[in-house]
Amino acid sequence: MAGAYWHGDEKNKMLTRIYGTAFETQEELDKYISQMEEARKRDHRKLGRELDLFSFSDLVGSGLPLYSSRGSFVRRTLNDYVEEMQFEEGYTQVWTPQIAKADLFKTSGHYDKYKDSMFRVVSNFSDEEMFLKPMNCPQHTQIYAAQPRSYRDLPLRLTDFAMLYRDEKPGELSGLGRTRAFSQDDCHIFCREDQVDKEIDMALQMTKKIMGTFGFSYKYRLSTRDVEHPEKYLGDPKVWDKVEKWAEEIMIRNKIDYFQGPGEAAFYAPKMDLMATDALGREWQLSTLQIDYVMPERFGLTYTDQDGSQKHPVMLHRAIIGSAERTMMILIEHFGGAFPVWLSPIQVAILPVSEKTMAYAEEVMKKLEEQDVRVELNRDADSLGKKIRNAEASKVPYMLIVGEKEAESNQVSVRQRGQKDLGAMTLAEFAGKIIKEDREKSL
Ligand SMILES: [Zn+2]
Repeated sequence: MAGAYWHGDEKNKMLTRIYGTAFETQEELDKYISQMEEARKRDHRKLGRELDLFSFSDLVGSGLPLYSSRGSFVRRTLNDYVEEMQFEEGYTQVWTPQIAKADLFKTSGHYDKYKDSMFRVVSNFSDEEMFLKPMNCPQHTQIYAAQPRSYRDLPLRLTDFAMLYRDEKPGELSGLGRTRAFSQDDCHIFCREDQVDKEIDMALQMTKKIMGTFGFSYKYRLSTRDVEHPEKYLGDPKVWDKVEKWAEEIMIRNKIDYFQGPGEAAFYAPKMDLMATDALGREWQLSTLQIDYVMPERFGLTYTDQDGSQKHPVMLHRAIIGSAERTMMILIEHFGGAFPVWLSPIQVAILPVSEKTMAYAEEVMKKLEEQDVRVELNRDADSLGKKIRNAEASKVPYMLIVGEKEAESNQVSVRQRGQKDLGAMTLAEFAGKIIKEDREKSL
């Protein structure tokens, strides 16, 4: 059941909407019920609190997540991962302010289509209408426009991890899934028309690699116009026809599984939206890829072509993981909080059997830290059983149990998350293993 306003208008009476889901067989119903139970256990709001990743505060405001140092580590590591890959592929990072004049959004078309979802900013000294930025696209057009551009300068690949703000309806805010402050691995590629295919193929390759790292299967939704409401879209319908067909050809050429999403396009371009399937079989929209002819034209962006003529570049909008907040939500639930080694804020818990082996435990910690392994030493006076239970609850990937036997033989007893006892090994052996897992981003 859910609340709903008559005709979706908040001024109308609140009604109760009842949803029902039907199954053809008992087996399908059982599977669904166990999936729901698993989803409840993995709820990112519950795990976020238990694992000390993020929180919300009434004083700060709803939909405005606060990350603890552990949560911030995961978020930063995700961003760094995408950023490193982008640098390797010739992307460059830019930086743009959090606020901009309404004029910018009037030119882009966001003002007309999107104003109600934007936060207005008030100045004490001027009457200029300003907004917190809900996306990076309009600002990036101005970086392009700041210099004369020649056909030889293109493609120009601009990435930006800046915070974005959207004024969501309070009833629609939900954990990290829907927030009012978020950031995206946003990228805009300004290129010539003949460069579009190569740029898109490159983005699709990067996406494939990243989805593989997370263990997501995926398909694409071709988000096209709502043919019954052409007034919702800017630009020449003939260009829309061309780009919608082009997007389909790209899917076929890259042998990508896709389906049609009529009415799901952005107001300026059709979209290729990546729908990922998580460990519970749930589908999430992550990244997006768009071929846009509208923005460059509205902003009057040009480059000098080989024959000396002035042409508009094509603007590609591209995100791979999309919103870092949403991706964190999906990954927390996908992994059930048990992050792989490379994403784990703490990778190893050292559990001394007694006070007698504390000195050796300190030595083990120091040696691992010197090799950049993220370690936590349990100094509590608890029994070994309790230390193991606590480490299991914190979902740390590895536990090293150090008793007198291990101290004498210069070894560690290794236990993997999920009760798997890997036996004794030398510290060098263990360090080699975990460093390799971290580097390879093993699942
Ligand atoms: Zn964009």
